[in-house]
Amino acid sequence: MPQENFDTGLLWYIIAIIKSSQCYSITKVSLLVVTKLLCTLSVAFVANWSVAARADAPKVVTDIAPIHSLVAQVMQGVGEPQALLPRNASPHGYAMRPSETRALQSADLVVWVGPVLTPWLDRARDTVADGAVNFVLLDVPGITVLPGRELAVFADEHDEHDEHDEHDEHDEHDEHDEHDEHDEHDEHDEHDEHAEHDNHDEHGHDAHDHGADGQDPHAWLDPSNARVWVAAIAGELAKLDPENAAVYAANASQTDARLAQLQTDLDTQLTPVRAVPFLVYHDAYQYFESRFSLAALGAISTSDASRPSPARLSELRAALKAEAVRCVFSEPQFSNALITALQDGADLESATLDPLGSHLEPGPEFYAGLMRSLAAEVFDCLN
Ligand SMILES: [Zn+2]
Repeated sequence: MPQENFDTGLLWYIIAIIKSSQCYSITKVSLLVVTKLLCTLSVAFVANWSVAARADAPKVVTDIAPIHSLVAQVMQGVGEPQALLPRNASPHGYAMRPSETRALQSADLVVWVGPVLTPWLDRARDTVADGAVNFVLLDVPGITVLPGRELAVFADEHDEHDEHDEHDEHDEHDEHDEHDEHDEHDEHDEHDEHAEHDNHDEHGHDAHDHGADGQDPHAWLDPSNARVWVAAIAGELAKLDPENAAVYAANASQTDARLAQLQTDLDTQLTPVRAVPFLVYHDAYQYFESRFSLAALGAISTSDASRPSPARLSELRAALKAEAVRCVFSEPQFSNALITALQDGADLESATLDPLGSHLEPGPEFYAGLMRSLAAEVFDCLN
């Protein structure tokens, strides 16, 4: 009920009581007391109603901590979103706990990267409350979506796809290019991969579902995408909670300014190490590399973090011999064993990169903290 109607209704009710009751004819002092009492009650009602309105802030559930942080920034002063994933868990293949299923059941809005990152969340969507808004970030118009890479050594992939202009990166992903990419992946991948997934589902190998439509899901590692999302999330929240629309819009515009500054800072910081080749554990940083023009040589595992084949590892060994790779980055979500094996005999430094920022406190400041710590790790190891 809108507050105005409520107040007007209550006022008429109070007047009606005063008019119809004996208190109309009793002494002025008593009337004053009664009026004061009713006024106090009225204020108490309105105050309660305001508390109820705050408690009624949309229940927003997100997938991973970086997305939680972006939503938390937009909701500041109104409410807080809830992240489904524990910070130390890899989103590629996860089993929800009962408390997480319950959160999903009572959500008004689910903001998540998409099925390509968290196929388990896609399958859990029947548990989402009817009428809850399903907001897939990879589908938001205006973001840069990069195709997933398959090869261990990225340069080989660049050669292979040159004719499609796929890697005309940095803003040059115009609509035309993106369309081509999607079409291409639909053609190549869908049929085979679906058959494959059915198989994997039976055996619980969830990680392989991801990549079904050829997208690289790690799109949060491009601050330009985050800027588009923040505006879109504010719009979605305003639809669910029009009373706080102005708050969401103001928060989104402040967040946008901070993200723009973040991107400029990282660009300046990373410029000196742009040409230095490095290797990552799983192919999670394409958006980061692309945005800041870094020279990643390859990844031990593909973007769905599946176990690399021996052939893939020997390709990487050969590339490591041929190129002056400075650094190989491990990840806290995965074992170091393969990195240690690759380092054997190669003059290779190692450092840790964490695309999920599991060492950082979740909340509004998390996103910038994550991006700055990634940039610092990359810079320190490559410099
Ligand atoms: Zn990943």
